[in-house]
Amino acid sequence: CLKNPRMYFVYFTAAPLCLLVFSETCRYPLGMTGGQIQDEDISASSQWSESTAARFGRLDFDTGDGDGAWCPDIMSEPGGFKEYLQVDLRSLHFITLVGTQGRHADGMGNEFAQRYRIKYSRDGGSWMGWHDRMGNQVVEGNKNTYDVVLKDLEPPIVARFVRFMPVTDPSSIVCMRVELYGCEWLDGLVSYSIPDGHQMIYRGLDVFFNDSVYDGATAQRLTKGLGQLTDGAWGLDDFLHSHVPGAWPGYDYVGWSNKTFPKGYVEVVFDFDHIRNFTSMKVHCSNMFSRGVRLFRQATCFFRSESEWEPDPMTFRPSAEPLSQSGRFVTVPLGDRTASSIKCRFHFGDQWLLFSEVAFQSGKTIRALPFTTREDPTHKVDDSNTKILIGCLVAIIAILLTVIVIILWRQVWQKMLEKASRRWLDDELTARLAAQTQAFSFLRSSQSSEDGSGSGSISTYERIYPACADYQEPSRLIRKLPEFAECSGTSSRAGVGSDGAPHYAEADIISLQESSDSGSITAVNMNLFAGSDLTLREFPKEKLTFKEKLGEGQFGEVHLCEAEDMQDFLGEDTSTEGSSESPLLVAVKMLREDANKNARNDFLKEIRIMSRLRDPNIVRLLAVCVDTDPLCMITEYMENGDLNQFLCSLRLKTLTGGEADQQEGSDEVRYSVKLLGMAVQVVSGMKYLSSLNFVHRDLATRNCLVGKNDTIKIADFGMSRNLYRGDYFRIQGRAVLPIRWMSWESILLGKFTMASDVWAFGVTLWEILTLCKEQPYSQLSDEQVIENTGEFFRNQGKQVYLPKPQCCPDRIYVNLMLSCWRRNAKERPSFQEIHAQLTETR
Ligand code: ADP
Repeated sequence: CLKNPRMYFVYFTAAPLCLLVFSETCRYPLGMTGGQIQDEDISASSQWSESTAARFGRLDFDTGDGDGAWCPDIMSEPGGFKEYLQVDLRSLHFITLVGTQGRHADGMGNEFAQRYRIKYSRDGGSWMGWHDRMGNQVVEGNKNTYDVVLKDLEPPIVARFVRFMPVTDPSSIVCMRVELYGCEWLDGLVSYSIPDGHQMIYRGLDVFFNDSVYDGATAQRLTKGLGQLTDGAWGLDDFLHSHVPGAWPGYDYVGWSNKTFPKGYVEVVFDFDHIRNFTSMKVHCSNMFSRGVRLFRQATCFFRSESEWEPDPMTFRPSAEPLSQSGRFVTVPLGDRTASSIKCRFHFGDQWLLFSEVAFQSGKTIRALPFTTREDPTHKVDDSNTKILIGCLVAIIAILLTVIVIILWRQVWQKMLEKASRRWLDDELTARLAAQTQAFSFLRSSQSSEDGSGSGSISTYERIYPACADYQEPSRLIRKLPEFAECSGTSSRAGVGSDGAPHYAEADIISLQESSDSGSITAVNMNLFAGSDLTLREFPKEKLTFKEKLGEGQFGEVHLCEAEDMQDFLGEDTSTEGSSESPLLVAVKMLREDANKNARNDFLKEIRIMSRLRDPNIVRLLAVCVDTDPLCMITEYMENGDLNQFLCSLRLKTLTGGEADQQEGSDEVRYSVKLLGMAVQVVSGMKYLSSLNFVHRDLATRNCLVGKNDTIKIADFGMSRNLYRGDYFRIQGRAVLPIRWMSWESILLGKFTMASDVWAFGVTLWEILTLCKEQPYSQLSDEQVIENTGEFFRNQGKQVYLPKPQCCPDRIYVNLMLSCWRRNAKERPSFQEIHAQLTETR
């Protein structure tokens, strides 16, 4: 077939008509990308997390609710690496090609398998390791996260189950997406059994006729396997040469010498998947009679459907002795006999018998000859089969058209669904709280009078983060890490999506690494985000009186307002606020009026999240004004602003001999007790969030607020909300992340879990105990912070930790702070444990 490209097998099936061109064209994707392979047929030895489960290991499948690939949990088996991704094709297939890809995840992925092995099985019980014709088992895989690397399987495999086994150093993370290419194995042949091939010495040259790719048992006879006789390639005329470069003489053929067969024949047994009706068998033989090799003289075939061989065999003798020495297919008629096994005795026509391929025509399936077959008595395909050919082509075209229509139809539907869900998000809250109120006139006037920013801004997101040093754009930085920057030459690929911003899967927020009960996680988060029982009520805007501007967030300004009759409005909840002032002072966060739809949805989402959080250490949302623009959320007022500023001012007081200095006792002890008291409050709030399986993602002193009596409450659920939306970091197409607070796996894998919140808490604790004197890792540039993250990942002892703050007790630093930054997320303490430890220490 390689010598003459027009030579190829053709399968014909009677009904439905279908044409499969063998070997070179049997390269159809089998359905990992296209979805024909169902999720339940893709499994794995382990998974890093639910969002990197086996079902996400589909080639070119980057979207969906996962993290963009299958990634095994390498931590589960630190010693050896035997992880695999398994595909069940449901029936035997002839697999000629495989494709692999790493985890790209719109630029956030950094993992791929540089090398892998393949294992396969026909029955799911016995597994064979694939190797190429030279015996190499390891396949060179990917060099980056996005390019598809295709590997021709030479020899191809016949299998139902295929396993991809990444070969890697145990400390590095790999992720894979795969596809299999080939076509259904219609022969139904599951194994053949032959005597081991012989060695010929031809003019001093060693010629080996062994079955070098046989995948069954190889004792005296080769049994229970398939090999060269079914590999889809047949031998050249001159058996000394081969189509495989570098192969030894005789490679293409399996052959035997008559000297060791006193009965004058070689017996070959073929086993099939089930009982079939056999029309004929085609055997490709060498006919180099000048070297003592000839076609078989006679073939006698026995049939077996049950346990015994039937007594009446079919006997066939090729009609005329061919004059040409070319290799050829000989067709042995099998008389429509039914069998699940066939045993054929091939009688020697000369000293040697050499076969390179065997194929069967059975039942509905007919595997016909190559078009250019010569001297084949049964080859009368042309006339009789022209109509069938035309029928086949028409059928294929009809199928293709149907597939195209289905794909187009699905795309249209997806778009419609997307639009509908956006509209739903936007309208939902407003609809629930629909009650007409009057315009919030003072807001307009105060907005324009304060700084005129409201009407002049062009984007909700543009104005805040680029100015804030705590948030960094990670994508360019990540590219500088060699392991994660294979694609640095193609800079637009790594770290960012096609639009330049990293995308986090929506499912991320509910993929919670720490929990053992995934069912309950989903339930809790569904409650958090489903918005089914929103208890907040619309507060009349006219009852708010502007006092001063407190600050500015990503959505707009935050104002201090007096809220008239708020106590009455809140009813029995008034007392819990610990204030009987009237009117009540509240903080009003407003969405700037020119906010786009995304910002508006995000604002509503933050409302929905906050409305369900009720804890002494979480800032409470009191009411909302969402009936008219601008949308507002009314939260309790925290007199002392954010914790970062508060600690800075504390430092200032200390330095200038303020009240702190006038207290008794050593500064250090006094401070550490006071500061640890603050940390306990933060951890108490986080403990509450973790009890809801809620991942904050942006814990830092800047996001905690300080109220009366140094009460500390966690605020700013923007990050979690926006990550939930999937596009939080989109700021003029760029990304920002608080990299100095983020765990290594959040930066490198885009993974946010309770354990990464614990990491951020470690940094927050460090901030508290240093009185926010400096930014974490202030000596390191952003690039160096990312490089340091790589060191955490590599774990070779080169990572730099934040130093022990001066007033931090040793045990807090060693037992707690450092434990928050453990490489293995599972080894980090829970917020419950941290809370217990900190309260004990105090
Ligand atoms: P965003 O979440 O949009 O970034 P923030 O919630 O961080 O906005 O608010 C911006 C600033 O407004 C904060 O840094 C803080 O100084 C002030 N602020 C916000 N909420 C309150 C509040 N409840 N009490 C007092 N000050 C607040």
